[in-house]
Amino acid sequence: MGDQTQPDNKPVSHAQLEWRDNGQPVSSAFDDIYFSTASGLEETRHVFLAQNHLPERWAELKENAVFTIGETGFGTGLNFLAAWQLWNDIAPASAHLHFVSVEKFPLHPKDLARALAMWPQLESLSCQLIAQYPPYLAPGVHRINLTPNVHLTLVVGEASDGFRSLSLDDANRDRWVDAWFLDGFAPSKNPEMWSEALFQSIAALSAPDSTFATFTCAGIVKRGLKSVGFAQEKVPGFGRKREMLRGRFADADESATDSTASTPPTYQSTPWHLPPELGTTLKPKTVAIIGAGIAGASAARALAARNYQVTVFEQGEHPGSGASGNDQGILYAKLSPKPGPNGDFNLQALQFAQRFYPSQCPQAAHFDGLLQLAQTEKEQQLQRQICQQLQLDTASLLARPVSGEQASEHAGVSLQFPGLYFPRAGWLRPRQVCEALLQHPKIQTHFHTRISDAVYEENSDGKSQWKLRFDGVEQTQSFDALILCTANFNRQFPQTAPLPLQPIRGQVTFAEATTTSEKLKIALCGEGYIAPAGTQFEKEASAQHSFGATFKLKQSATEIRQEEHQENLATLASLLPEFAQQFSEQTLRGRAALRAATPDYLPMVGPVAQWQELENTYGALRKNRKQLVGKRTPYQPNLYVLAGLGSRGFTYAPLAAEVLAAWINREAMPVSEDLVKSLHPMRFAIRALGKNREI
Ligand code: SAM
Repeated sequence: MGDQTQPDNKPVSHAQLEWRDNGQPVSSAFDDIYFSTASGLEETRHVFLAQNHLPERWAELKENAVFTIGETGFGTGLNFLAAWQLWNDIAPASAHLHFVSVEKFPLHPKDLARALAMWPQLESLSCQLIAQYPPYLAPGVHRINLTPNVHLTLVVGEASDGFRSLSLDDANRDRWVDAWFLDGFAPSKNPEMWSEALFQSIAALSAPDSTFATFTCAGIVKRGLKSVGFAQEKVPGFGRKREMLRGRFADADESATDSTASTPPTYQSTPWHLPPELGTTLKPKTVAIIGAGIAGASAARALAARNYQVTVFEQGEHPGSGASGNDQGILYAKLSPKPGPNGDFNLQALQFAQRFYPSQCPQAAHFDGLLQLAQTEKEQQLQRQICQQLQLDTASLLARPVSGEQASEHAGVSLQFPGLYFPRAGWLRPRQVCEALLQHPKIQTHFHTRISDAVYEENSDGKSQWKLRFDGVEQTQSFDALILCTANFNRQFPQTAPLPLQPIRGQVTFAEATTTSEKLKIALCGEGYIAPAGTQFEKEASAQHSFGATFKLKQSATEIRQEEHQENLATLASLLPEFAQQFSEQTLRGRAALRAATPDYLPMVGPVAQWQELENTYGALRKNRKQLVGKRTPYQPNLYVLAGLGSRGFTYAPLAAEVLAAWINREAMPVSEDLVKSLHPMRFAIRALGKNREI
């Protein structure tokens, strides 16, 4: 496999390419082509689109349908673009296409653009793909929403592992692939990929009537697909290729499907994260969200984009009344040199957010660069480790190491410290973001509306729903699903009261821009942060900066404190002494609000169990936390939370909302199964059981 096999500590392994005179890329390691010289596009259309019967199937799709394609080997994205183009021509405008592709050696963004230049007929789509293609292709899952209805999930890693990492170990939930594009280099050149494990992963994700198509008729592929239940036939290949293979899952033997559905699943690990009702109860149609901060607004947007009717209730007078209501916020993520859920989620959430805001609310996002300055030797060492581990250099599109001098050039003001420069991050206007996200025909909002309680009960028509009662009003309203995005207020609802969230008070200081501070061009973070002078403040006559913020664990008062202004000034002075000196002469104003944080500082997103049943089902973990309890526990029907975003709400919320929508809509998850568990609201209760503590 030549030099493409890289040691484990080098996380991104880009494809090594050679280029033919006609612009065609060839893999150096596999000595194979990405698409045929004659007409790669025509071949894709014949092999993958026509032989999966996509034109016919898509013409018959119902409104709002979801169709999922699974692919081995994303390569240049040609198959994806051809499928997307056909989808645009044929599928109903309200339907959604999910394209889930695994790729062990992703093309470098520059190579992707070069390869796709061969297809001018796809240019309008390839431009969008190139613009959204992640700058840093870390191993793991990358969700790229190209339009509100076309979703690419690019999984970087070995094909079989990649598909397995998307499977939540649930025979019902995960059967979402309707058609397979089995690409990948020829089995003779790449036998490792076409493994038994790959065929098993494919079968585990296949919908009962899913189809497959592949360019190859190699015995290893035929046998592998047959062994997991695919009926198959040879049909003429494209151009001079005599034959290819196509088929259908459990085609000849419907009973194979029935038996999968009726056999109780066997679990590799305790399935505490799986609500049993998935696959058996109806999907919700109407959704109530409580809370209109960035959590509620992102959740509402993600669900509205999937055609859910969403109603948002907020006790405050406008979106972002709590911690999401500051004038300026920073798109901050904490990268880590060590693999693990916190570093992985930060990296993925940052990249997702960098794509999300400019497409959803461009007027509120100023992503023209951000500096994370290392103000201590310890921080400088950490940044060196991050650069080494993530292979970040001065040309990286994600983050670049910079000296104090280079940092000063980016910032437009003199800085003493080296740091990391994030060319695609920046600052945003939190309240404007929340307002923009809630502007959608499928979203209704109610402000000044406090929900006093919520009960799941049967209506007069025999349908069970969440009935919401309002403060001081007789009338109630019922919804199929309820999502709590109420940060620290989650505690007021008995259904979510045991979730461990703690308030962290934060005070931001505002100062009027001075002729010195006006020169600051981009957002800076170090011990604290400061945003460049805002020029479009709605209520301010002159431009101002936000800087701060204080971090007061377990404090829940929100009055403005002079001593915290002083604290913010002192922090700023360590970075920009002249700014701090000038600001200290002004009468400072500010805003204090409460963040809600979890004990492990990762957000909580997902379904909520019935607490007593959780104890009853998994009580055995109290004696031995490692034991496999092969049982699922009752969850509260269609009850979800998205909370615990801490100080990084604007970075975390868009991807967290995508995870939430995947739970509710039963789609492929936008993060790996490990991360699904690391974000799951019930993880703390399971950990408590494992330590024999109260949950
Ligand atoms: N579908 C692609 C397109 O539209 O451009 C062409 C795919 S190319 C023929 C094969 C792809 O499979 C390459 O990008 C290669 O890196 C990838 N690949 C090879 N072995 C793999 C493996 N074991 N796991 C995941 N991807 C693999």
